[in-house]
Amino acid sequence: MKKILSNENRMIVYNLKNVLQGEGIETHVVNDFAAGGAGGLATFDTWPELWLDDDTQQAQAQEIIDGILHSNEKDSWFCRACQEKNASSFKLCWNCGGGYE
Ligand SMILES: [Zn+2]
Repeated sequence: MKKILSNENRMIVYNLKNVLQGEGIETHVVNDFAAGGAGGLATFDTWPELWLDDDTQQAQAQEIIDGILHSNEKDSWFCRACQEKNASSFKLCWNCGGGYE
């Protein structure tokens, strides 16, 4: 197994997991400690990580992730709840977990 992503925002990690799953790439999340109680102790070490189940899919997974994280402005959408910009392939807002509507 290989770690393909680490991000302080667990919504981003889970959105990417969902997108990859839709492409037939199985992953799992580690270090997913529920929010709260961090009390300033949050460090890079405790960021949620996305791990690839099948190493042979790494190149494909990385390409998809890069495409999402660097997606064109025109493809993005704005959350109605918090107005944050989201990548087109995100189904839920990375910031608040809200949807399109
Ligand atoms: Zn939002």
